Amino acid sequence: MFILESKAQLEKAIAKAMKTRTTVKFISFGVYAVRGSKGNFYTVECKRGMHGEKIVSCDCKAGQSVKPLVCFHAVSALSLHVGLARQRQTA
Ligand SMILES: [Zn+2]
Repeated sequence: MFILESKAQLEKAIAKAMKTRTTVKFISFGVYAVRGSKGNFYTVECKRGMHGEKIVSCDCKAGQSVKPLVCFHAVSALSLHVGLARQRQTA
């Protein structure tokens, strides 16, 4: 799990996500299944913390380490999530 603070934090993962072009499945608002490099699916959760911080968690190995990396699964799910959240606000 990591807290999203800046876009710079995401740049590497975004580059990888663009190259990889994975599949993101919508499960429910804030919960997505993202296809990993071996064809398996990881669950990514995007939610808001108590102070409005953006919290993202992924159940892949990188997302579970002590110092979690921003993995491309999280970024792929986030790009869908941000679009959906925007639609909700304007709906
Ligand atoms: Zn991941």
